[in-house]
Amino acid sequence: MSQTILEMAKELVLAQVQAQQIAPEAMKDVLHSTYETLRGLEAAEAGGGPGVGNGAPAGLEAQAPVDWKGSISKNTIRCLECGESFKQLSLRHLSTHGLDPRSYREKYNIPRSQALSARSVTARRRELAQQIRPWELAPSKTQAEPAKAAAKPAASNGAAKPAATKPVARSRVKKAAAKA
Ligand SMILES: [Zn+2]
Repeated sequence: MSQTILEMAKELVLAQVQAQQIAPEAMKDVLHSTYETLRGLEAAEAGGGPGVGNGAPAGLEAQAPVDWKGSISKNTIRCLECGESFKQLSLRHLSTHGLDPRSYREKYNIPRSQALSARSVTARRRELAQQIRPWELAPSKTQAEPAKAAAKPAASNGAAKPAATKPVARSRVKKAAAKA
């Protein structure tokens, strides 16, 4: 469409005035109603259905909850309440909509496993968690080792004693036998 709706409406009305189908003083009213009609037709065309005016935005709102996946991209997460983009959806921001992460997920059918942050942020956090884990394990390992070390000699002593005493006893017997 190379013409604007207003231009189309103007031409239509002017043609009617020139054809003397309407009085020039009625032109403004006819122009207005023609413009409104054309705008309605265009909206119907764009909406792909008979839903003119309020029908189209309502349809978009109904689709939004299903399309939560589209709100999370590599570098941003878009708030489905207000459309603002963030690195992550904070509790503080959600509270401005009277929501928290739990009710937000419920409202938009977002699974609990889905982090409310941009993909890159989620990935980075996962990375950090993997880096932190060895640090968390380290103290418990060092605590466990002395316990094992303390238990080991006791256990090996117990196991080694009969084996160790026998040769000693034998050698004593041998030594005693050699002496005698
Ligand atoms: Zn928001």
